[in-house]
Amino acid sequence: MPTKLRVGICGCGIGGLVLAIALSRYRDVEVSIFEAATKLAEVGAGVGVFPRPWEIIQKLGLEDELLRVTEVKRREGPGKFYHVWSTRTSLDFVLVVRTFSYRKSDCAEGIDFYTLFTQGTLISFHRADFQQVLLRRLGSQYKIHCGKRLRAYTQRHNGPIKLWFEDGSAATCDVLIGADGLKSAVRKTLMTEKAQLAQSEGRRAEAADYLASIEALWSGTVSYRAVIPTEAIRSRCPNHRVFTQPVQVGFLLTSYYLGKNAHIVAYPISGGKMINFAAFVARHEKENTKFDGPWFAPAEKEELAKHFRGWEPEVQMLVNSADQPLRWAIHTVKPLSTFVDGRVAIMGDAAHAMHPTQGSGAGQSIEDAYVLATVLGHPSTDGSCASIQRALKIFDIVRRPRALDVSEGSRLNGQYFGLKYKGVDFSSLQGEILQNKLVELMETVKRNWAWTWSTSPDDAYEEAIQLLES
Ligand SMILES: Cc1cc2nc3c(=O)[nH]c(=O)nc-3n(C[C@H](O)[C@H](O)[C@H](O)COP(=O)(O)OP(=O)(O)OC[C@H]3O[C@@H](n4cnc5c(N)ncnc54)[C@H](O)[C@@H]3O)c2cc1C
Repeated sequence: MPTKLRVGICGCGIGGLVLAIALSRYRDVEVSIFEAATKLAEVGAGVGVFPRPWEIIQKLGLEDELLRVTEVKRREGPGKFYHVWSTRTSLDFVLVVRTFSYRKSDCAEGIDFYTLFTQGTLISFHRADFQQVLLRRLGSQYKIHCGKRLRAYTQRHNGPIKLWFEDGSAATCDVLIGADGLKSAVRKTLMTEKAQLAQSEGRRAEAADYLASIEALWSGTVSYRAVIPTEAIRSRCPNHRVFTQPVQVGFLLTSYYLGKNAHIVAYPISGGKMINFAAFVARHEKENTKFDGPWFAPAEKEELAKHFRGWEPEVQMLVNSADQPLRWAIHTVKPLSTFVDGRVAIMGDAAHAMHPTQGSGAGQSIEDAYVLATVLGHPSTDGSCASIQRALKIFDIVRRPRALDVSEGSRLNGQYFGLKYKGVDFSSLQGEILQNKLVELMETVKRNWAWTWSTSPDDAYEEAIQLLES
């Protein structure tokens, strides 16, 4: 083995980039990043980071730079420095923030019914801004090999892992991390190899389960996303709530418009100049089926508008301002029985692509990255095959149950936001009864979601260290 541990990262999304940054703190680790795209670019949409993954951003020293590209601002308190989002790490002060407002909108006149307060706030970014900060931090210390679409890898006992790319080239590494997203090529090879072994040992059901994990499945939901210039809405509706709702200084308020089988999320980004818009339309009976058509494509405005006919005027205003929406068929990865095989692991969307309805997919890939860097950079991971395998097993033990829980919680939030809750027909309720039922629904959402602002990623980190040192 060479003296440095050679980590190959396949995929340069948020997960792969944060992993590279987290690994850059260890001198005995050398990182190569292989990215399929010929040029790094993020989609023009927003991404929000909750207090829990934000603690990792702080630990990696990315906070100052990221705060320059978001509207959320630090707050100074009397004699004390307050981080609006910080919960446990550097401070003992937790600010309760009005973060989400909910309105039932699938009717002529919408009903405001709930405000969700969180401990610390959701910090929102334009994806391209977020990516640029990560790339700047990485600097030139690691070369990102663009145009390298992984086809497959081979892992031989004790030898290096060989990566095979679509352009006919190859590379080697000691550890391979698949951060290659929803259609992960690393997941495909990993699950195929595990299936072959299980099959050869007569474990047929297990083999079938591995093979069924390769393809991502349609969640039954499509999302229409757009970034709308705030002026486009202001000129038609100067008092639209999406930019006029009262907020605490330095915070953002995200507006939710809920209705039967659909909902819309909107919040300001890019210094308030733009509104991030995402509409979700669910066909629950289609969950885990194959989507007919491209997973990601430009859509006609009319296609978006037809799903929201009959909704209140405020929603019509948003929908009509969403020029050139992009349609995403939301796909998820079925809950996996492992993220690891030998010296190969998958992380982020490659391992647990989930419904976006807890705004936590990127946060989970940040958590994966931090634990992976911790186990790979730990002194007990000395470069031997056995130590690498042990490190990755610990990653699997620590991260997989948590990520799968978040994935299930996100799936449930998706149902609740489409008013699918305990068989209640909300359209048949009125007045106080309707209001109370809607509040009950949101209390359920809050209990389901609170982990992301009321818990710390330190629990996973500490468990990993304990296992490494036991
Ligand atoms: C509508 C919507 C809203 C969302 N909002 C939020 C939010 O507010 N907060 C949040 O935390 N999450 C959110 N998410 C989820 C979040 O976007 C993802 O979970 C996150 O981007 C996953 O990051 P990743 O690095 O694991 O994968 P990706 O971002 O998919 O990156 C994978 C990378 O691998 C590359 N790649 C793919 N195949 C190969 C190959 N064979 N070889 C080499 N490279 C390859 C790709 O080009 C890409 O660069 C949202 C998702 C959606 C759909």
